Amino acid sequence: MVNGNIISKVDAIIHPLKLNHEDYLKDGHLLNNELNRGLKSTKDSSVKMYLTYVRSLPNQKERGVYLALDLGGTNIRVVLIEFLPNKINVIDQQCHEIPATLFFSSGSQLFDFIAENVIQFAIKNKLAGVRVALGFTFSFPSVQHGLAEATLVAWTKNFMCPGVVGYDVVQLLKQSLKRKMDRSIPYIDVVAIINDTTGTLIYGSLKDSNCKIGLIVGTGSNCCYVEQLQNIDKWPYNYSEPNQVIINCECGAFGDNGVLDCLATSWDRTIDYESLNITKQIHEKIIAGMYLPELLRRIMLTLVEKGLLFNGLAPIELFVPYSIKTKFMSLIDLDDGRKDLTNTKEALKKIFKYFKCNETDLRIIFSINNTITRRSAYFVATALWTLAKRIDQVNVSVAYDGSLICKHPHYKRWVKEKVNEFAQNEGIEKVIGFVEAPDGSIYGAAIVAAICYREKRPKFIKKNGKVYEITRF
Ligand code: ADP
Ligand code: MG
Repeated sequence: MVNGNIISKVDAIIHPLKLNHEDYLKDGHLLNNELNRGLKSTKDSSVKMYLTYVRSLPNQKERGVYLALDLGGTNIRVVLIEFLPNKINVIDQQCHEIPATLFFSSGSQLFDFIAENVIQFAIKNKLAGVRVALGFTFSFPSVQHGLAEATLVAWTKNFMCPGVVGYDVVQLLKQSLKRKMDRSIPYIDVVAIINDTTGTLIYGSLKDSNCKIGLIVGTGSNCCYVEQLQNIDKWPYNYSEPNQVIINCECGAFGDNGVLDCLATSWDRTIDYESLNITKQIHEKIIAGMYLPELLRRIMLTLVEKGLLFNGLAPIELFVPYSIKTKFMSLIDLDDGRKDLTNTKEALKKIFKYFKCNETDLRIIFSINNTITRRSAYFVATALWTLAKRIDQVNVSVAYDGSLICKHPHYKRWVKEKVNEFAQNEGIEKVIGFVEAPDGSIYGAAIVAAICYREKRPKFIKKNGKVYEITRF
């Protein structure tokens, strides 16, 4: 039996998480102001709108074999990809969870670990004696001054490694590769650095030429889009063709100047205060997979303290910060639109070793979980709609990647529904398409490397008196 009295008390407590359409309109309006500010000056805006220097999108003429490396918030991935006419062939790929000790170790330890991974992978794939170009996906806020140059501005997500902020991460990677390529095996040429949103957009644009927006919702969250040069006050070069560039919005930082405080809850504020990057990445902390389960945990604790959940007795795991895995939120949301809550029960059994819960507890946990995940999807939809309106074409597609948006059973649908609601309410003629770009963050890096080599690929290199063969074509 569900206790209606308790349910209505809980509903009142979690009410601030249920924003209405007006709130999302306000969010979109505020974001648009920040985007404009960022295009004028990086210094004066919380949403940095970094120039990526990626101006050409793929033209299907990319050929050859390339390495790509992706350092995300949770995983490190390496792939070897071959571009064939009308086909991309993944020769081999490897994905490891980043060992937690590395989040706090020195920058050189981190990059040595990455270099070791890449070299072992290259050796395994018989790339000894071969010059191979590598595209590096590095998904942390960085200022670029060229395609293979990126200075880390601040760590986000789980990372805190000293000795990297303020340095060019391509140089750090090259130094580590050099240290490891002693008796030298493959010659790995780091030709481009991009972030995951850019990679996703590039990969998506191979599938759908209307792709003008890239979206990531994984450990972190961020967007990029294709902007016309004449709209970018801070563009430092000529207005030559191609008359466009991908802008990495770094919109996870939206709200860092306090503009989102009116829409955030006290739980959002606590997550921020107790995070590694206080007052930073406010938008990301409302949206991303790293923070959603922590929000769920904190709300559950509040309800336990008020005697409204688990009869006031918290299971021990509820006291451990970041103890809940995001995949269990996906499992709980499988019960969306269903009467019985068997998946919610299943998830709770996995989260808590010893726990007793009744039907009311299950309803409450399902409801909180669903509310915060929908809120995340609606914030994402608002950001996408705000970006889509800036693009001067009716059909605009969004390429997306990241485990939360790809693996959650309803997240994409919620994003699409909210975007459609905006389009209908505002009467703007726009059709937003969605293109799943699984592992686009890493394939995109290989594509950018291929675009680089398409334009200026060396034929042979001479090293230590030996002539090395170029990438196999
Ligand atoms: P990265 O952020 O390292 O690039 P991913 O895009 O794979 O990697 O995102 C990993 C994050 O996605 C995890 O830390 C977790 O927050 C979330 N996640 C992983 N699996 C799931 C799932 N099944 N459902 C929802 N979210 C998930
Ligand atoms: Mg990623």
